[in-house]
Amino acid sequence: MSLHIPFDNSYARLSGAFFTAQAPTPVSAPRLVAFNEPLARIMSIAPGEVGEMAQVFAGNRVPDGAAPLAQAYAGHQFGTFNPQLGDGRAVLLGETVGTDGIRRDLQLKGSGPTPYSRMGDGRAWLGPVLREYVVSEAMHALGIPTTRALAAVETGDKVVRETVLPGAVLARVATSHLRVGTFQIFAARDDTASLKQLTQYAIDRHYPGAQGPMGLLKAVCDAQTRLIVQWLSVGFIHGVMNTDNSSIAGETIDYGPCAFMDTYRADTVLSSIDRGGRYRFNRQPDIAVWNMAQLATALIAQLPDPEAAVEEATEIVNGMGDLFRKEWARAYCAKIGIAEPEEGDVRLAVDLMGLMEEGQADFTNTFRALSDGAARDQFLDPHAFDAWAELWRARLSREADPRAVMRAANPVVIPRNHRVEQMIQAAVAGDYGPFERLNAALARPFDDDPAYEDLRRPPAVDERVQATFCGT
Ligand code: AMP
Ligand code: MG
Repeated sequence: MSLHIPFDNSYARLSGAFFTAQAPTPVSAPRLVAFNEPLARIMSIAPGEVGEMAQVFAGNRVPDGAAPLAQAYAGHQFGTFNPQLGDGRAVLLGETVGTDGIRRDLQLKGSGPTPYSRMGDGRAWLGPVLREYVVSEAMHALGIPTTRALAAVETGDKVVRETVLPGAVLARVATSHLRVGTFQIFAARDDTASLKQLTQYAIDRHYPGAQGPMGLLKAVCDAQTRLIVQWLSVGFIHGVMNTDNSSIAGETIDYGPCAFMDTYRADTVLSSIDRGGRYRFNRQPDIAVWNMAQLATALIAQLPDPEAAVEEATEIVNGMGDLFRKEWARAYCAKIGIAEPEEGDVRLAVDLMGLMEEGQADFTNTFRALSDGAARDQFLDPHAFDAWAELWRARLSREADPRAVMRAANPVVIPRNHRVEQMIQAAVAGDYGPFERLNAALARPFDDDPAYEDLRRPPAVDERVQATFCGT
């Protein structure tokens, strides 16, 4: 049995301005540590022997039909425009069209230097590779659009960050790696021809119904709005919502210092590099709007009369607020058992959030406990909850099956930061047990499985992760 990947590489057929042909750089002793069979099947990939897959997913052997390249893009990083970023430690091997008809990119991340590496080594260490593997697959199981993980390989080489660490490569899958920054690079260069080509490519690949640049803008704004609501509804903080990490397909992409909240606090910042709190939990909707305004600016640059388009683009971007409020109401009302939000229901949800913040309640466990009748125990002052619960129960008396609604909206297990850190520590020491177990539990995040009771617990004081590590 030999690994077979039926490549069909549409991005490589675009003009040379979009990328640089770049083979991955071989590593010394690749060892396959994870392979996602169900995802391989969807992608029409036939798995091969473990040793062969280690060679391919480490980048030591370029498989038949691949056209490895590093993508060019720009981006605003923490609000400052950088006209030249690009894949500095990744190569796109190519694309497959899956059994579901969906075209997906297969990218190796951590595969060595490229012309876009700047000062970087082009590598990744094992910790962030396993973090991205676990968290992106957890997001997928939660029903949240995301890049996915096909495989992880230890390279046998060392990577130098704050300390010397084991190197790794992640085989990452996305419906595309087009970013807001992919549009920005051509707008910044006044390369209208490439901008037009990219716009048509994005429409064909992701939003075939969209009409022209403004149609594309509207589609991406909608997708980003829905995505952010989904993040907020599970307590997810992306941590680096730079425009180069903002996906045109509306997927969660680039898991760096991302994290799920334990105790609820609206302004939580967990990333150690986000000192100003630009990407704090409750600021994510505003940042998505800001990012879409950058996309609008880039898209407009290809129009014959950019001035005339500004009004339309502004209206589209500002329209995100209405959709956001509607989707947020739907998501949060479902979390408290209300299937169809009515007047006043949003107040109920917002009031609960206020109580949770005051009561230092655990985000995930409090919502889940609503359907188990145990929510009041989650609050420092349970009496404050009682008053709210009276109004809430009165409202639920008009709902058909609030418990079912809540159980479908409130996960039991999420990748808690301290468990992710413990998993990484174990893997570095050679024990992949916690990695396998986390993946198994997170594949069914809404199941009440007593075997994973320990994964539901918030961190003990000595387990608490104060800041997510930035040395990826
Ligand atoms: P990120 O913050 O991971 O989204 O990366 C921002 C930019 O830095 C992208 O252009 C990356 O390709 C690049 N980059 C990040 N880490 C490295 C690395 N170790 N070597 C080379 N380039 C990197
Ligand atoms: Mg990035």
